[in-house]
Amino acid sequence: MAAAYRCTFLFICISFLIFSLETQMKAQISSLVWMKDSQAQLEKELTIKYGEAQQSRIQKGLRQVIDFWRAEDGDAATFEDFVRTNFAGDQTTMDVMFNRFENLLEQLNGHMNEIGLAFRQQSELELGPIYSFDEIFAAYSPGAHITDDFFKNKLAFIVLLNFPLTTLNERLMNGERWTRREWAEVRLAQRFSKRIPAEINQAVAEAASLTDQYISEYNIYMYHLIDANSNRLFPPKMRLLSHWNLRDELKADYNDKEHGIEKQKMIQKVMERIVTQTIPEVVVNNPNLDWNPFTNDVRLASVKDIDAPAKLNLKISNSPEPDTRYATLLKAFLASKKVDPYSPTAPTLITRKFDEEREIPETRVKEMLESILSSPLVPRIAKIMEERLGRSLEPYDIWYNGFRANGKYSETQLDEIVKKRYPTPDAYKADIPNMLMTLGFSKERAKYIADNILVDPARGSGHAAGAGMRSAKAHLRTRVGKDGMDYKGFNIAVHEMGHNVEQTLSLNTIDHYLLNGVPNTAFTEAIAFVFQAHDLDLLGLSTPDPQSDVLKTLNDFWMTYEIAGVSLVDMGIWHWMYDHPAAEPAELKAAMLSIAKDIWNTYYAPVFKEKDIVLLAIYSHIIHSFLYIPDYAIGYLISHQIEEQVKKSSSVGIEVERIVKSGSIAPDLWMKNATGSPVGSRALLEATERALKEYKK
Ligand SMILES: [Zn+2]
Repeated sequence: MAAAYRCTFLFICISFLIFSLETQMKAQISSLVWMKDSQAQLEKELTIKYGEAQQSRIQKGLRQVIDFWRAEDGDAATFEDFVRTNFAGDQTTMDVMFNRFENLLEQLNGHMNEIGLAFRQQSELELGPIYSFDEIFAAYSPGAHITDDFFKNKLAFIVLLNFPLTTLNERLMNGERWTRREWAEVRLAQRFSKRIPAEINQAVAEAASLTDQYISEYNIYMYHLIDANSNRLFPPKMRLLSHWNLRDELKADYNDKEHGIEKQKMIQKVMERIVTQTIPEVVVNNPNLDWNPFTNDVRLASVKDIDAPAKLNLKISNSPEPDTRYATLLKAFLASKKVDPYSPTAPTLITRKFDEEREIPETRVKEMLESILSSPLVPRIAKIMEERLGRSLEPYDIWYNGFRANGKYSETQLDEIVKKRYPTPDAYKADIPNMLMTLGFSKERAKYIADNILVDPARGSGHAAGAGMRSAKAHLRTRVGKDGMDYKGFNIAVHEMGHNVEQTLSLNTIDHYLLNGVPNTAFTEAIAFVFQAHDLDLLGLSTPDPQSDVLKTLNDFWMTYEIAGVSLVDMGIWHWMYDHPAAEPAELKAAMLSIAKDIWNTYYAPVFKEKDIVLLAIYSHIIHSFLYIPDYAIGYLISHQIEEQVKKSSSVGIEVERIVKSGSIAPDLWMKNATGSPVGSRALLEATERALKEYKK
């Protein structure tokens, strides 16, 4: 992640600027009094010139241009001249225009992507020290102003005059009948469906960075949590970031037979204190105090485990955090709301997330989530969990991670095998064609794909960076130690290679550049997971244990069940904020607690036998990720659909090659082409049903 620029002072200035800009904008729109006359005149004139058959295109094009035209774009004469010059009234001109935009946008995107990759190279690859200027290069986004520029030079208006903007409903209702070219035209127009002033984008970025900052410094010093007998359950120096590290520690504590349950109960209490904001403000990110989360008693730490500077003027008290969590979320909401007037086809953050980014209607997502949450499979799995745990369920068991099979090979054995096989990134690269052939790609295809993938030494654990144009190559970034690649590195590399294969095929073998890629990230993740699951095959070590598949499915179901509830909380709170735009942080907190409890009481209390639990609201994403959580839940469902489909085929390679050819059309249509059904929960529910039948104690 690039370092975000943070400055509170700047944020205040920008908020002021936006306020005056919005007032100015409204004034501008209403002052374009000539627009109506020009519109009527041009509609008449162009219809006579190009014929009745073009009339509806003319009307729509004019409306689309008018929606985005501002006083600064020109007066009536400029507008009329622009429309007369740039309306493509016959098929030949349309074809030339479409092809030119498609080709040149590929060049633009592709080269911007190459610049970005080059600018981030020093910070992303193992290439020696990173200097301060390397970080600035890495954070720079060369494409940030393209949309602005395209409105200024009117290329965006040419697209809007000639190609249709669509709603999600139109894409879903009519998309199946559209030709590939029509889909590509729709995607072209969509690029210019918003004209957000740079100041407002900046305000959203500032809010995102403020919320990030709040979350990234929210640590709990675990050694300083004490129970009623002043026992410290956690080791010295353990610093856990909420909620990720707290949850992961809670999961790890299932392995602690002696104190696991006490630790888990304590973490649950800490999480509840954060959500309800009854956590003493002074204990956040502070190793100098001891805190009993049950009694909320705070005192000066009686032992020191970390050399942290004592916070000055710190009053030791248990005064609660003053609803900062909810004030922070409100900032994210208010910044997002500023975009609304500039996004006519999706005028709220909720519609932008569901209708534009995910392209699955919110009502359908809600139904899918509820079908998991209220599935009769839930109590059956809960029963198995109780047997495995030897106790009844506790609320924190929404994070149960005990569905794990024991591997046939030890990690050390696997490390040894992989290190010998791949001593360098080049050795891995040389083997890509063989690996792809093992997965069922033809010899020619395997070579073609491998030729389009470069392997680079990553600083981090690894990632895949696709190309943005057909003349460029995808990058597989992988970590190879001095003594060779270890098994963990290999497992990740195979996942990233799955991304690279999808990226290469869905860019290089697609009929229209504007349709390159997949509908959204869940699709490419699913394909990457299919590859990753075959990592032992690629080492020639397979003989998978059928029970491991069963346990994996039960684990996937339980994780989906957990995140589905969190998703509903995330969706519920954004609706509440839109319904109460002037809310105070305390009111937002009350709403959050009530929504979280309602969802718990409806879908979890029947299994956990306890009511009014607020744990679902602990996710940090709810505060800083702008309605992102449902993507996780949808991602699991999409993954299962794709994985089941690939399992049905005898060859991963052939099936992956077939399904990625649809490109970035609407997810439901993509999924119908791939599996015969739209995106939904059936594949996961059926797989879970089967797993329950095959489960052995
Ligand atoms: Zn991935």
